[in-house]
Amino acid sequence: MVPVILVAGSANLDLTVAVPHIVRPGETVIGGDTVTAPGGKGANQAVAAGRAGGRVTFLGALGRDAAGQTLLSSLQEVGVDTACVQLVDAPTGAAYISVTPEGENAITVSSGANAHLLPEHLPDLTPFTHLLLQLETPPETVSAFAQAGHAAGLSVVLNAAPARPLDEQLLRHVSVLVVNEGELQTLAGEEGGTEAQAARLRARGPQTVVVTLGAQGCLAQTAGSTIRLPAFRVEVTDTTGAGDTFVGVLAAWLSQGAPLEGALQAATVGAALACTQPGAQPGMPTRAAILAHLT
Ligand code: ADP
Repeated sequence: MVPVILVAGSANLDLTVAVPHIVRPGETVIGGDTVTAPGGKGANQAVAAGRAGGRVTFLGALGRDAAGQTLLSSLQEVGVDTACVQLVDAPTGAAYISVTPEGENAITVSSGANAHLLPEHLPDLTPFTHLLLQLETPPETVSAFAQAGHAAGLSVVLNAAPARPLDEQLLRHVSVLVVNEGELQTLAGEEGGTEAQAARLRARGPQTVVVTLGAQGCLAQTAGSTIRLPAFRVEVTDTTGAGDTFVGVLAAWLSQGAPLEGALQAATVGAALACTQPGAQPGMPTRAAILAHLT
């Protein structure tokens, strides 16, 4: 069977405006031109996995509007199958982002169509080997998808982002859990170091827990071993999308049968290369670019 990853999650249009300072209650600030870019953790990770050579189908909910069409095209351009995408009676999700000259930002997310992704939207899982989920769609939907994926024998990869407390049942259906340091604190509490926190999370279900540590690289705990990898050194332009690239590349490599350590190395290189380019999706590296830096 050809490995196919089903990425089920959010898609947003990111609308970014440079502002002199973050707006205060009741105030109006005049900003620069609106910069529009495809985003949302689900769509970003689908694009990252597709660029990295994975065979990917995206399941998400979009509005019947121009933003929805833009997001569909950005997925299709990298070869992601969009046949499962649900067009619903709500506006396409959007993120309104203000950025100051100091790099401070303020973000308002309008979930819109993403809130209408429902358990019954899950397609027949026969063609898929891997299911990749995040937490930007309704919690009941994420839990139902994970349960169905596990029951169908798929390897369920959960990026528990953005941070929020989880239904305990959900973790029992997860094969690989990926979190950053903030999400690790939310899920495992502050006690002990990263390794102890990851071990506590692993005891709640996942076979493997991966913690991304920004410029410090990553740590993974799996049965009987801990893997630590330093970050791949690059000249950083913009770290937006680094986490999503890491998860997408990890899923692509795992789906092709790579051992965990090899998949983590590819994800580390892929995420670093994404940091060398501005924006999330446009900076995501191809499989060839990742392979060129793997020794
Ligand atoms: P998130 O963006 O989700 O908070 P992290 O900041 O942990 O996630 O970054 C995800 C991964 O991206 C890291 O594990 C690392 O591999 C890579 N990365 C992040 N920042 C850098 C950096 N400054 N240089 C190189 N790689 C980086």
